[in-house]
Amino acid sequence: MNGDHPPRTEDLLDRRRRLLGPNVSTFYEEPVHVVNGEGVWLWDADGRKYLDCYNNVPHVGHCNPRVVNAIAEQAGRLNTHTRYPHEGILDYAERLTGTFDETLSTAILTCSGSEANDIALRMAEAMTGKRGIVATDATYHGNTTLVSHLSRSNVPGVGFGLGQYLRHVEAPDCYRISDPDGQHFAAHVQRAIEDLEREGIGFAALIVCPLFLNEGFPDQKEGWLRPAAEAVRCAGGLLICDEVQSGFGRCGSHFWAHQKQGVVPDVVTMGKPMGNGHPVAGLVTTPTIMARFRNAFRYFNTFGGNPVSCAAAMAVLDELEDRGLQENAAAMGKLAHGRLSALSEKYDVIGDVRQSGMVFGAEFVRDRETREPSSAFADQVVNEMRRRGIILSKLGRHKNTLKIRPPMPFVAEHVDLLIDTLDDVLASIPHHG
Ligand code: PMP
Repeated sequence: MNGDHPPRTEDLLDRRRRLLGPNVSTFYEEPVHVVNGEGVWLWDADGRKYLDCYNNVPHVGHCNPRVVNAIAEQAGRLNTHTRYPHEGILDYAERLTGTFDETLSTAILTCSGSEANDIALRMAEAMTGKRGIVATDATYHGNTTLVSHLSRSNVPGVGFGLGQYLRHVEAPDCYRISDPDGQHFAAHVQRAIEDLEREGIGFAALIVCPLFLNEGFPDQKEGWLRPAAEAVRCAGGLLICDEVQSGFGRCGSHFWAHQKQGVVPDVVTMGKPMGNGHPVAGLVTTPTIMARFRNAFRYFNTFGGNPVSCAAAMAVLDELEDRGLQENAAAMGKLAHGRLSALSEKYDVIGDVRQSGMVFGAEFVRDRETREPSSAFADQVVNEMRRRGIILSKLGRHKNTLKIRPPMPFVAEHVDLLIDTLDDVLASIPHHG
């Protein structure tokens, strides 16, 4: 900062390119230089206020005072690592595992979701003695060497060959592929497993986000994932549920999205919202898997599970509970879905409206008959919403679905502001089919 004048956004972008290198992405045609946050609101350097309908990391609200105080208090007392016994990680692990099926009673804490997924895949290898992994074709599970190979959109580059161990199955798409009971998806998983076995690689694990959030959060009835889980179990592999985005009450009906799916995974990974922005992530699993992993691989993480991280994570659980934020997610999701559905009657460009608790969005199509996606229209909407002070994004298999995933203290007046602005924006952008 330079005196009272905030740096110009162009200057910041220039410095980013110079200091951070090329291809470091920003959001929006006109990136937002945010300098303050509170609850569901963000402010830019010029003092302009934005409604945050996108960020799931500040789960219990930007700069949540309870979390900030917990971090400050513990940081002022002690911060070390897990080679010193400390009750912080134990109290947290006890409370966290208490939210899962009783079989998932042990935990590892890390600093990122990527690390947690990396460990989960190594657990699968330790348990099965095999390395074959099945994932969906439109997913993202993180950025370590191992985990980055699961993603098709950010492939690590030619020459890094873990591809032989992977099989991608088509991500569910309830708008285009009829699969009411998850049998179609399970058949794909089954074929991928057989292929890995036939090739002599062997099947170790299926890894999925139980809400298929990056894939466009398809509508699925409770228990939809059961047939796929069954195929995994029959083949002797592990079911890994990546709840980095879907966990901590976001789906409204349950604290964890796999519970909505009616399955008990072997490993559940988590991150993003866990410390409300403080970098804490982790996983839970059974004592048997944990012991096998701990004995097969020596694992230590300098920052993972430190006392400050645990204090932050504990404060997040307190906030969720005391403020009834999971229940709020269920109620606000329903409200937003109703209002989005009303918009879909007004605008043909909306092909489908979907919601799962505090994740909701509309899918844009060029033509409702053909259901051809309109990613360019989604781009225009996202950028115009930003101009009008609403922060959101897009995602999905076809990158044409609005990604609306606000902090959990999002209430009816916020839903109204969001949808009223979206109504104006849809009316303002010509749509030629
Ligand atoms: N899994 C999912 C489903 C994610 O969305 C992400 C991050 N977008 C990750 C894992 C990786 O988490 P992190 O960035 O904390 O490593």
